[in-house]
Amino acid sequence: MKECILYKPYKGKVQCLACANKCVISDGKTGLCGVRKNLKNKLYLLVYGKPVAVHVDPIEKKPLYHFLPNTKTFSFGTVGCNFKCKFCQNADISQEKTIMGQKYTVKKIVELALESGCKSISYTYNEPTIFIEFVKDVAELAHKNGLKNILVTNGYFTKKSLDFIAPYIDAMNIDLKSFSNDFYLKHSGTKLKPVLDSIKRVHKKGIHIELTTLLIPGENDSKKELENIAKFIASVDKNIPWHISRFFPMYKMLNKSPTELQSLKEAEKIGKKYLKYVYLGNI
Ligand code: SF4
Repeated sequence: MKECILYKPYKGKVQCLACANKCVISDGKTGLCGVRKNLKNKLYLLVYGKPVAVHVDPIEKKPLYHFLPNTKTFSFGTVGCNFKCKFCQNADISQEKTIMGQKYTVKKIVELALESGCKSISYTYNEPTIFIEFVKDVAELAHKNGLKNILVTNGYFTKKSLDFIAPYIDAMNIDLKSFSNDFYLKHSGTKLKPVLDSIKRVHKKGIHIELTTLLIPGENDSKKELENIAKFIASVDKNIPWHISRFFPMYKMLNKSPTELQSLKEAEKIGKKYLKYVYLGNI
């Protein structure tokens, strides 16, 4: 546990500034993600130094296809998330309410990454914005040791949290789950606009960026919506790679079938009208 940096006093409580939920948190309570707790009007990060999942992955698994290809990335995540996606592919850790994980110091993570021959560290599996101060400490030491840093994120940054972490981050894969605010509200309990703002800001900061959309039958796979996503990405930069990923029934969305290969192909065709690099994943 460590005191957070991204928060401020707010009407006798505290307000967290790590993500666009901007939770106002009373003494003794945690924010929506469950890992940032107000104790006597100081905000603490409960999962600091406590990864719950630690693996060495191929970088293409993040997915990043245009950044350090054919290298391994030291990957970890904690419990908790600021989204409540019904289709979450990692709900066992992201929606876990008990704070758990093994103790890893910042130094230990960087040493393990170097020992395992990785070229980068990925903050992934759950949403890294919620443990952003831990990310910053690891990422800073990683840079000093010649490693790159990768965020795999839902993009729900505040301007402040992105400015805070950007100097340490070399690449991001950001989920663009849909182009509909209703979809974000209904399935994740969040909003679309902060995600679009983040994508534009990350690109402007010169951080390498790739985007991912999980294609869910009947939810975000209409021709119109896919056109809107592709057009938006192209308006930022038509060279941004777009990964369209196949959905499999998970967590609270078990009533849907996996995405048909045909609809993935159609989405790819739409993407290629506007973008230079479109990839299908999970197939
Ligand atoms: S990081 Fe957690 S506590 Fe902070 S605003 Fe987001 S959901 Fe709320």
